[in-house]
Amino acid sequence: MSDCCGGDTCGEKKTPEDSGLPLCPECGKKGKKVERVTLMALLTPQARGRLTDDAWRFCGTGGCDVVYFSGERILRQEDVNVRVGQKETDPSRYVCYCFNHTVQSIRDEFEKTGKTTVVESITEKIKAKKCACEYTNPQGTCCLRNVRAAVKEVISGKYSTNGRERKKAS
Ligand SMILES: [Zn+2]
Repeated sequence: MSDCCGGDTCGEKKTPEDSGLPLCPECGKKGKKVERVTLMALLTPQARGRLTDDAWRFCGTGGCDVVYFSGERILRQEDVNVRVGQKETDPSRYVCYCFNHTVQSIRDEFEKTGKTTVVESITEKIKAKKCACEYTNPQGTCCLRNVRAAVKEVISGKYSTNGRERKKAS
């Protein structure tokens, strides 16, 4: 059904169909197809009523208010039952919906212990088949790529609570 959590390349796979995907009507960026189960699990009842049988795609662009689109039809954050972390920049945003990791929780661990175990922790649970990305994550796929990106940002000091003068990783 999806390539989620299937193995080592989890969340990083670039499938050939990635090129030439339909574009978000608002930001013009490519969107990845989402499975219907994801939409059914995460949309508000009103928004579910507006679903069509066509393929719906997820817009992952930060700052773009469109969450899902199908042609010119769009669904926004207000149509989704969870906060769409991919759209937010606040450290309280979710990066892993199955196990409730936020940028903040990753940062807190890093500042307390000097390291982060979040990727290992999630990978372990994925192996134990404890994840449910297609029901919890608005993008409908494994979060690991988002988590790795967040880890990088945390390590670079982007969200540091003690002094923001650290230099950015290039
Ligand atoms: Zn968009």
